[in-house]
Amino acid sequence: MRGNVKKKYKKNYKGFYTAQFVPDISKVSNGHRREHCSANRSRLNMIGINQGQQIRIVRPIAKGNSTLAVYTVSDVHDQEPNTVFVVGYTKPEDLRDRLELLSTSPFRGKVKAQVTMNLTDAEAEDKSEFVEHLIDNGYNTKLIVIAPHGGNIEKHTDEQAERICEQLPDRYVSAWICKGFKQGGGAYDRWHITSTDINEESFPKLKSIIGRHFEYSVAFHGWDNDSICIGGGQSTPPHLKQQIKEAIVNAVSGSGISVETDEDRTCPGDFNGSNSGNIVNRLSTKGLQIEQSKKARARYGIKIADAVTDIFDPLIKV
Ligand SMILES: [Zn+2]
Repeated sequence: MRGNVKKKYKKNYKGFYTAQFVPDISKVSNGHRREHCSANRSRLNMIGINQGQQIRIVRPIAKGNSTLAVYTVSDVHDQEPNTVFVVGYTKPEDLRDRLELLSTSPFRGKVKAQVTMNLTDAEAEDKSEFVEHLIDNGYNTKLIVIAPHGGNIEKHTDEQAERICEQLPDRYVSAWICKGFKQGGGAYDRWHITSTDINEESFPKLKSIIGRHFEYSVAFHGWDNDSICIGGGQSTPPHLKQQIKEAIVNAVSGSGISVETDEDRTCPGDFNGSNSGNIVNRLSTKGLQIEQSKKARARYGIKIADAVTDIFDPLIKV
């Protein structure tokens, strides 16, 4: 796909600084997620980062190797310049899963400004990396499909977005896709950033289309529940969700997978895509979020994508 063109590494490189990281569980009540951190304002500004953006935390481990994860700078502080508070974890396992930490003691590492690398998917998989792709003709304003957690973060969601792009002319559809990988497992722990936190300043390809104002947007996600939930923004027509639901029910018929919309009030609040800050709702006024079980994605992923295509086809070709 077009997004795989390899570019000079230097172009997007902003910088890094060495920091002392302090796990701080005391701030967890302020709505923090485990991928949240708080860093010194002016130190961040030196590498071109502001509050709300994403960074990489890189931690040296044995034998000259390092481990890393993406974090959101949820807060900034004016204390010790090189101190970064890791504020969102609720249990030591969160630190272990995300940064391979075996304790909650402070540790040294680096804050890096560049979040995604310019690599092909094959290179990203080989290097356990994180890449960003855009499929876009430069002027489409009808539909954008997104998979912010593709690759091995939420498996098969990227294939669904790519499938819709293959089925519709590029004057009607664009796609924004991120793919994260980790050899041996753990891509979700390393790369997952919550949809309401995704900041276009940290994703150059997203930034290039964030002001486009698409008419429709659809986000493909995966979750641990057994069902499929179709949610969306406040101004997404309920009948559109209903149409998508019926088409997906048809696509997964015989599987036993239940399909709900947030109108059914069975979609958990954190997953119903209703937040206006959710990236799917920042791309269009009619945003839809589709959360899918593992089985739905693995066995019916393309069928679900085609069901979504069938609903949008007459809507966008007017
Ligand atoms: Zn997701």
